[in-house]
Amino acid sequence: MTAFIVLERITMTYGGAGTDTPAVEDASLTIGRGEFVALVGPSGCGKSSLLKIVSGLMPPDSGIARVDGETVSRPLTMVGMAFQNATLLPWRTTLENVLLPLEVSRSHRGSFRRKRAEHVAAARALLKTVGLEGYEDHAPYELSGGMQQRASLCRSLIHAPDLLLLDEPFAALDAFTREELWDVLQELWQARKFTVILVTHDLREAVYLADRVYVVSKRPGRIVYERPVALPRPRTLESTFDQDFIDLVHALRDHIGEVRAA
Ligand code: ADP
Ligand code: MG
Repeated sequence: MTAFIVLERITMTYGGAGTDTPAVEDASLTIGRGEFVALVGPSGCGKSSLLKIVSGLMPPDSGIARVDGETVSRPLTMVGMAFQNATLLPWRTTLENVLLPLEVSRSHRGSFRRKRAEHVAAARALLKTVGLEGYEDHAPYELSGGMQQRASLCRSLIHAPDLLLLDEPFAALDAFTREELWDVLQELWQARKFTVILVTHDLREAVYLADRVYVVSKRPGRIVYERPVALPRPRTLESTFDQDFIDLVHALRDHIGEVRAA
């Protein structure tokens, strides 16, 4: 598999090198194009910081971040992002929220009006694949938390990004809704083949979705363990009760235990 994302010995301190304990220390990883990778680790260990480095929102003190062969030196435009809070704009309908990245991004803004019908059709198609057909004209407050997060996923994918960065996108949802959204995400990924970095503290979520899981130590965040997940796809909720699945979750849990105790 060709390397799509490469972090080489990245150290990053929020105030700049030497001002404080780094948020990320000497982190290296390689992610293939189209691969689905999860980052897991205790709260405050630097997972979100790693995403900021990959997306170009925070420059490292040292080390190199490369995406698609290019050194990251400014915020990337080919990225989709979604976070724990769906952050839909309350005065826009679901459809208008999904269209937002096309309206504001420099690369699409010029053509947005001209191609509006095309964009609307794409947004409707995406909303349909996540089960939100019929909710296009609803306001965010009329949607449940899970539906808002579905819409947020559509918004993060509307510009067909090569890279999707997900920062604990399902953490605020109840367990049943969260598991439904695992399947929604898995289907989107299998259909569209973008590269994903999913930050989560839910080890079952990591094993369910990822091809590979990295465990990050407590601050300063270092990558302390890497585990391939070779389970067949599509993964199903029944398969989470299989011994293979359970063994993988336990193996990860042991490593999280180590980094917490250290
Ligand atoms: P995680 O996502 O794993 O919970 P973060 O990457 O958000 O962790 O944070 C890593 C460390 O950096 C934490 O100790 C956090 O307090 C600190 N940190 C995060 N954002 C900032 C910021 N903007 N300025 C200063 N320190 C920050
Ligand atoms: Mg975080």
